Amino acid sequence: MAANLEDVSSIDLMTELLRRMKCSSKRDERLILVGPPGSGKGTQSPLIKDEYCLCHLATGDMLRAAVAAKTPLGVKAKEAMEKGELVSDDLVVGIIDEALNKPSCQKGFILDGFPRTVVQAQKLDEMLEKRGTKIDKVLNFAIDDAILEERITGRWIHPSSGRTYHTKFAPPKAPGVDDVTGEPLIQRKDDTAAVLKSRLEAFHRQTEPVIDYYAKKNVVTNIQAEKQPMEVSEQVHKTLSS
Ligand code: AMP
Repeated sequence: MAANLEDVSSIDLMTELLRRMKCSSKRDERLILVGPPGSGKGTQSPLIKDEYCLCHLATGDMLRAAVAAKTPLGVKAKEAMEKGELVSDDLVVGIIDEALNKPSCQKGFILDGFPRTVVQAQKLDEMLEKRGTKIDKVLNFAIDDAILEERITGRWIHPSSGRTYHTKFAPPKAPGVDDVTGEPLIQRKDDTAAVLKSRLEAFHRQTEPVIDYYAKKNVVTNIQAEKQPMEVSEQVHKTLSS
């Protein structure tokens, strides 16, 4: 239920009004970002979300929130996540099906970290067909495994916004705190060299076939994800404006 608008500050109301006016001219877009851990999906998503007025649905973030809140979903997902293995298809398909109904997804969405198996991709297509839509573009964040360990082990995250930092490549202004809100940053439990190994194995074995699945539908664009974030943003922008 929406908050009583009389209790919302004028500045917040005006900001939201301006956002909606800007968004009314944007076309609907349904996107999937695919790539191994550390390929930059989480860095680009908040930028794409704001620019194109889409909702950002990251199954990893949703699962981590469920684990932290100890919900039945979180209890089921915890063990696989800690080992760097995938949780069952049914669990993630269910959370995406529900999330797609959010009003913020009205103009479309960015799926980040989903689908990660061909079964998930097929189920997603079924869900979208029922809603009378389909995936418009799949951005494949292609990058060599060798680069990922340093990216992952130095990564710090601001959980509520999804903003990411890196101790060496993109440090926050003050160590351990988010530049915008001043809130504390966290390091993910699975961002270790050891867990990364199984996460990469899962990516190559279970997720790479998803890229082939969508390539057959002619919706995949390769992004050179080893480039600097600004250059990656430019590639993304080019793809989305074509
Ligand atoms: P991520 O934040 O995308 O790296 O995801 C963190 C962990 O959550 C993964 O290593 C998996 O254990 C789990 N996970 C996230 N998304 C999915 C998915 N679509 N299918 C299965 N497991 C997932």
